[in-house]
Amino acid sequence: MSERAHSDVVVAIDGPSGSGKSSTSRGVAARLGLRYLDTGAMYRAMTWWLLERGVPVDDAAAVVARCDEPVIDSGTDPLAPTITADGVDVSEAIRSPEVTGAVSAVSAVPEVRARLLRLQREAIGGGGIVVEGRDIGAVVAPDAEVKVYLTADPAARAARRAAEEGGTDLAATESSLLARDRVDSTRAASPLTMAAGAVHVDTTPYTLDEVVTLIVGLVEDAVEDRR
Ligand code: C5P
Repeated sequence: MSERAHSDVVVAIDGPSGSGKSSTSRGVAARLGLRYLDTGAMYRAMTWWLLERGVPVDDAAAVVARCDEPVIDSGTDPLAPTITADGVDVSEAIRSPEVTGAVSAVSAVPEVRARLLRLQREAIGGGGIVVEGRDIGAVVAPDAEVKVYLTADPAARAARRAAEEGGTDLAATESSLLARDRVDSTRAASPLTMAAGAVHVDTTPYTLDEVVTLIVGLVEDAVEDRR
């Protein structure tokens, strides 16, 4: 099947932290010649920008007062994704423990979500993209042709995250992941849930390559079914 056949497809990949969303989404996009959008990086860039300016991120009113200001820009090449805030490359800074510890509070603020939702829909445009996050299939792109909900055992997720972040304290990584999941799943605004029509994939027993192949197959089937 030619890459052109996928040129307007939208693939929504949701799930909790450490489920393998980023590597999987980038792998699927690269194999199919699609763009890639990491919406978590956008929430992290907003959080980084607020922290840099000393905004108390647990104070929703203070967050609302400033959340329209930062210019957040995401590069969508799956082989070299980029993220900037006011033109500053924040791709490393947004992975700091300070940002990770504050991002769930910021992303629970409805005004932040509304602002980033607009940017996300602009980036999706006419499709041809794999979008990863927590609310993509349910809220950002409810008409996505392929929706996947990725999960993995908490221990497997903690091991992956610790490897990505170079951490060694697995128990601490696991408890921080579970705390973030709790906030993300119980917040009022667009909580993490499995969207209607999503395919649930538990990645625990599979390699990255196997999961990518499975999702590429789902996309090919969806595009084939249009004919
Ligand atoms: O995917 P990642 O772990 O980098 O996401 C960071 C945080 O951004 C999540 O814990 C969640 O609070 C928030 N997020 C969100 N909605 C999305 C993507 C991420 O609320 N679509």
